[in-house]
Amino acid sequence: MEPRIVIALGGNALGKTPEEQKARIDQVSGALVGLIEKGYEIIVTHGNGPQVGMIQSAFTSGAASDTKVPQMPLAECTAMSEGYIGYHLQAGLLRELRRRGMPWEVATLVTQVEVDPNDDAFQNPTKPIGAFYTKEEADELKAKEPDAVFAPDAGRGYRRMVASPKPRHIVEIRSIKNLLDNEFVVIACGGGGVPVVRHGDGDFVGVDAVIDKDLAAERLAEEINADHLFILTAVDRVALNYGTPQEKQLSTMTVEDATRYCKEGHFAPGSMLPKVQAAIAFAQSAPGRKAVICSLEKAPQALDGSSGTVITGNASKTAMASSTLQYAGQS
Ligand code: ADP
Ligand code: MG
Repeated sequence: MEPRIVIALGGNALGKTPEEQKARIDQVSGALVGLIEKGYEIIVTHGNGPQVGMIQSAFTSGAASDTKVPQMPLAECTAMSEGYIGYHLQAGLLRELRRRGMPWEVATLVTQVEVDPNDDAFQNPTKPIGAFYTKEEADELKAKEPDAVFAPDAGRGYRRMVASPKPRHIVEIRSIKNLLDNEFVVIACGGGGVPVVRHGDGDFVGVDAVIDKDLAAERLAEEINADHLFILTAVDRVALNYGTPQEKQLSTMTVEDATRYCKEGHFAPGSMLPKVQAAIAFAQSAPGRKAVICSLEKAPQALDGSSGTVITGNASKTAMASSTLQYAGQS
């Protein structure tokens, strides 16, 4: 069986408009299909911060001026963003596959991800989403929606804050596995997945929350028994003392190192920290698994270790350094 890689694309790296998104995806499709050519099976997931914010604010301002436009819950907005980004990824990947004469099909799966209704995150919403409001506007909205939470966001005004609960289980995991077994490139868990809670057997209901896409990618990688988790973002490598004169880029970290660096505060919460946490969780979930954090552009170089930061379980460090080269040779 081909080694499996889950690839998580950063939402911020996909641009702010449909044109930008198409262009960015065209730029990375070659590298992604290159991985299949090298003998890997790939599963693609992606962030959606800018995209879901755009969809939400379109509905919010539409509903304010036009009674035909309904209020759109966040879970539905996330599902829409999965379709919007998945559409461009399907088109870009399929074009590249056919250009190279490769027979694979590409499918996007609107994915529900189960969360625990008792997750502490629901008591403490930390994730800002959607439009900015003045204090007066926020108070007015709060009067209409007593359960909603509004808070200042980095001095730019007030925003709605939602919970960011941990992903527990991917509802559509069997569909994903079936597609993978039938030569489909699968795009799943976009934007961290649509957060749902279980009400009964097969009965899931969407909640007002956002799941961190790096943690959802990790869950996906474990549930499909992936060999590697690639987190592609805007920087080439994870750094210590990031953005200071003492900055030091890392090409490898053991789980032990990475855990210590997290405690020492090297990684910004909400951006690099969840990536490193996802990498640690995956690398220590089973022997031989490794995670890579690298830039979109240099993903192919990350395969042979000339770019990116590799995170490995302590015992498997040396064994893993050579495994990608072996896989490349097998194809
Ligand atoms: P994505 O959309 O890919 O999830 P984020 O903006 O959430 O991207 O996170 C990646 C960003 O994290 C980088 O572009 C960088 O600005 C920032 N960052 C914070 N701490 C570090 C660090 N220690 N090393 C590298 N990048 C860091
Ligand atoms: Mg991010």
